[in-house]
Amino acid sequence: MTLPMSPFTVGPEDPRYLELSHSDNHRFAVEPAEFHLPRTPDDVVASLRKAVADGRAVACRSGGHCGQDFVGSPRRDLVLDLHNLNTVGRSAEGPGVRIGAGATVDQAQKALFRRWNASLPLGACSAVGMGGLVAGGGYGPLSRQLGLAVDHLHAVEVAVVDESRDVRLVTARADDTGDLGDLFWAHTGGGGGNFGVVTAYEFRSPEHLAAGPIGLARASSRLHVQKIVYPWAAMDEESFVTVMRRFFAWHERHGAPETPENSLFASFFVNHRNSGFLQLMVQQDADVDPEGKILRDFVASLTEGTRAVGIPRGGVMSWLTGTRYMSQADCGDVMGARSASKSAYHRATPTDDQFSVLHRHLNSDHPGQASYVMFNSYGGEINRRAPSDTAAPQRDSVAKSSWFTAWQDASMDELHLGWLRGLYEEFFAGTGGVPVTGDRTDGCYINYPDTDLLDAAHNRSEQPWHHLYYKDNYARLRSAKRTWDPLNVFHHAMSVEL
Ligand SMILES: Cc1cc2nc3c(=O)[nH]c(=O)nc-3n(C[C@H](O)[C@H](O)[C@H](O)COP(=O)(O)OP(=O)(O)OC[C@H]3O[C@@H](n4cnc5c(N)ncnc54)[C@H](O)[C@@H]3O)c2cc1C
Repeated sequence: MTLPMSPFTVGPEDPRYLELSHSDNHRFAVEPAEFHLPRTPDDVVASLRKAVADGRAVACRSGGHCGQDFVGSPRRDLVLDLHNLNTVGRSAEGPGVRIGAGATVDQAQKALFRRWNASLPLGACSAVGMGGLVAGGGYGPLSRQLGLAVDHLHAVEVAVVDESRDVRLVTARADDTGDLGDLFWAHTGGGGGNFGVVTAYEFRSPEHLAAGPIGLARASSRLHVQKIVYPWAAMDEESFVTVMRRFFAWHERHGAPETPENSLFASFFVNHRNSGFLQLMVQQDADVDPEGKILRDFVASLTEGTRAVGIPRGGVMSWLTGTRYMSQADCGDVMGARSASKSAYHRATPTDDQFSVLHRHLNSDHPGQASYVMFNSYGGEINRRAPSDTAAPQRDSVAKSSWFTAWQDASMDELHLGWLRGLYEEFFAGTGGVPVTGDRTDGCYINYPDTDLLDAAHNRSEQPWHHLYYKDNYARLRSAKRTWDPLNVFHHAMSVEL
């Protein structure tokens, strides 16, 4: 007899189970006894209430882009997959928008633009879920102009479990104080999977209330977009070090808020030599600088007088088209792959010796086709806030990096993890193998989580993992955890400790 299929519950015998058990990173399978696919916040409360009453281990997932095994591990009985909670609409009270936690960045961005000509500083990868992205802070190509996603957060709706195992839906707002104020603040960079199940976020940008009834920044009308390829064949070590030094020096000069240069955002994919080239993706708001001089000068300044040769593609595009052109959505070869990543915030330019280390590891005989360090623009409007204004404390960096490698076959796990650790730990050898909070670096991004930071063999610094992510904000996050998840229902390898 065939069991009837439920649109709401998916068990291992259901054909959808295999697809649901995949995360973006195929190194980690999510294999609970069942998935629930709630369609409303009330569905979330009902599922959670029953699971908690039955003593079942539960976790939730929105876009499935977690870099570590936080959703599937430790063993879960139930995973709430929230992708059906994806509506984007007006806030019920006052200006602003309400975005379901299961919406992807792409769904949110398109709806904001097409309905209201509005924009938020969301991520560069369109397939990432709002649920995890926002809880961890959220940054992207508009962040130098507009700040972090959480700098525009007005309210969070979250299903929480109290000491007596009762489940209720709570809305915490930016102007709340006391315990509710702590719950709101914990969702401005504390990271997903810690306090409850977020069902929706509301955004309202106080400084843009005059821009229209929606109360968010207007999208620019056009973008200058360029993807520039630098063949490794025309890049010797001296040129490489010079280009890298100049990339950072430009960002150091233009790291403060309120300059026209904040309209520029760059992602520099410094690939392993196996892929043949380095790629700079750079965009700039054409409403601020119609001729694109800032972008042109930035790009030209990187390679002037060196042997490096840049081959450009791109032009001027309308906002949504340009944004999609620059999107790193599940990029090609990386889809369906196993991967590992690490991160760093940069307050200042690394030393030439560090760039030489990078050059050596990128020219090693490592077999990876998708192994790179991505250096992203940071600073600008992000740096207007103080470290304790939101739970995301890194507010004076000028660049942020993601150290990444992807592969297909499980037999290559150790080889790839070894390459990535070797590069990262040698690059940061002067500070215990990690980018400590110090003169040049300022810790790591919780949305690029790295469980090596828990391990004294890899983190040889004086700074524990939670300091690298949260700095002095960890004490308030723990206090919010004790109030809002006293039974530690929501936990994973790097969750906020009770
Ligand atoms: C290819 C790629 C590109 C990326 N680009 C960017 C970028 O441009 N900018 C940026 O800031 N980040 C970026 N990230 C990082 C991304 O923000 C994090 O991976 C984020 O956690 C993903 O959210 P998700 O909902 O897709 O992930 P999920 O795997 O669904 O969840 C991640 C964590 O959050 C928890 N969680 C998810 N939903 C909820 C919820 N509704 N309530 C409570 N907890 C929840 C999960 O339990 C898990 O612990 C990128 C990641 C990848 C893999």
